[in-house]
Amino acid sequence: MKKSHGPAFKKAVIELDKCAFCRGRAVIQGLFHDLPCDRCNASGWVVAATGEALALDELVTQLSMRLQAATRQIEQMKNPRATGPGAHYQAGNRLGAGGANYTGD
Ligand SMILES: [Zn+2]
Repeated sequence: MKKSHGPAFKKAVIELDKCAFCRGRAVIQGLFHDLPCDRCNASGWVVAATGEALALDELVTQLSMRLQAATRQIEQMKNPRATGPGAHYQAGNRLGAGGANYTGD
């Protein structure tokens, strides 16, 4: 008997590459219309290691992970970390020595 159940199976990220056939466009130029590229399941991506299209269910997950990573990068570019030195703007924290010591006589 083979034990195939492992603890906490985590989805692996598959290295993707641009489909060479459609050059990552996901469509190819037909006679009148753009046609979905059948070399990459019309995704524009293939498995980098084999150059083959991913199965549709796997493809959806892999594209989602890429999209999430890309979205995170965009968010980070839009909101550069505001926690570094300089972020805490010291606004008018002035402890003035109060007034002149006037001694009249
Ligand atoms: Zn293609």
